[in-house]
Amino acid sequence: MELAHRYAALLTAPEGMLREAPADGFSDDRSELELQAHWFAGDFGTSFLTATNGERVEVVQFGVWNREAGPDFTDAAVRFPDRDGAPVLRGAIELDTSAEDWERHGHGSNPAFDGVVLHLYLRQGLRQPFTRTSQHRQIAQVQLDYRQIEQRPPPAPLPLAMPGRCLGPLRLLDKEQVRTLLSAAAQYRLEIKNRRWQRLASVRGYDQALFQSLAITLGYKENKLPFALLAQRLPLKVLQAEQKAATALLLGAAGFLQAPEFGEDKSAKETRAYLRDCWEHWWPRRSQMDRLILPAAAWKLAGLRPANHPQRRLAALAQLARRWPEVRALIDGGSADFGKDVIRFLTGLRDEYWYHHYTLHSARTARPLALIGASRATEMLANVFFPLAIAQRPERWTPYEKLPATTTNRRVETVIARLFGERANGEAWIKTAVHQQGLLQIYEDFCLRDDSDCERCTFPERVKRFEFQRV
Ligand code: SF4
Repeated sequence: MELAHRYAALLTAPEGMLREAPADGFSDDRSELELQAHWFAGDFGTSFLTATNGERVEVVQFGVWNREAGPDFTDAAVRFPDRDGAPVLRGAIELDTSAEDWERHGHGSNPAFDGVVLHLYLRQGLRQPFTRTSQHRQIAQVQLDYRQIEQRPPPAPLPLAMPGRCLGPLRLLDKEQVRTLLSAAAQYRLEIKNRRWQRLASVRGYDQALFQSLAITLGYKENKLPFALLAQRLPLKVLQAEQKAATALLLGAAGFLQAPEFGEDKSAKETRAYLRDCWEHWWPRRSQMDRLILPAAAWKLAGLRPANHPQRRLAALAQLARRWPEVRALIDGGSADFGKDVIRFLTGLRDEYWYHHYTLHSARTARPLALIGASRATEMLANVFFPLAIAQRPERWTPYEKLPATTTNRRVETVIARLFGERANGEAWIKTAVHQQGLLQIYEDFCLRDDSDCERCTFPERVKRFEFQRV
């Protein structure tokens, strides 16, 4: 793991050669998306906007387009020069056509909007509304002037994020140098993860720590927390001792088994029989678990693909608990085909009922459904199995480095846009799990810590001094 040290040196290098910090009447046919594009392109200006209370607001960083639920732009930074210390606030920005949309769309009571630091709008409405979070924190409001974009065509194409200052230095590197840099950042990330994992294992024990880590990857990506809670409340030892009842216990503690419903349930006979069986296992233990049953609000089910429903994933977790000796043997054994063995094991897990049902009540599917699909299995391999196996046998880094990534996510796409500009320029670096991990580490170490719109970020200078030659 020699490269990890080089990346650590890049993070801590003396800054002598590094950059010094500087002294110091809207048309309804414009869609909200178009307005956001104009905002993001800087067409409304950045320095100094005037808030509705008269104070000046400087947009230091436009942030990143949020294509998911929540505020319009995340990871933005705004400065308030008139406040004591001229603080820079990092957070999200929401842009609405009307100021009243904040309350009309329920943002004021939605915790997902608690991190908003600036509310932009074009129309004020009859009275001046108050923009507040669910914690009753007041948010600065700026009314944008539509005349600034009246004559402008919509900017296209819409970038996910603005390219950063490091684009130039990274362009000067050849492919091998970029590969080395990303691999170094990925090794560094792996070492951090392993240290965190060792701490968990020293408190909970190796097996329980591994079980919790696997549960969290099954909760990807919206339901990590409820899966972590369930793995804590129904630890591996309990599920191993209960074997037959394991799935029912997990479904019950998750709050998915309500009052006996199989009597009147209009589902097929097979579903009624399964529910009855679950209930028989769950009922005798329910009173002991009563206080620990998760509320329905703990689960995020909106927008989930049926194959990813947590009920299926809990059935998979129960299967892992039942076949635990095989899980341990995969990590501890010396297989030359480690990656393939793990994928084969995970995708081969079977459960008679869940082999043909998306959820507890869904109709039987004609097509069999893998309990863990190939893409989730690869994520589990990349995020849990490989890191632990490499800690035991560092030579496993070589096959890990070649592991193809099965998916990308908003963070990876964002860092590609910031470091490489056009997606085509960074395309080569999203193809493997290791390079994605390296990109994420750089994003967290530099982009997420920067509140100067790249101006004071030291990554571009540090890249020039990185030790690229592979030993
Ligand atoms: S903050 Fe630093 S690493 Fe991120 S895009 Fe700007 S210059 Fe690059």
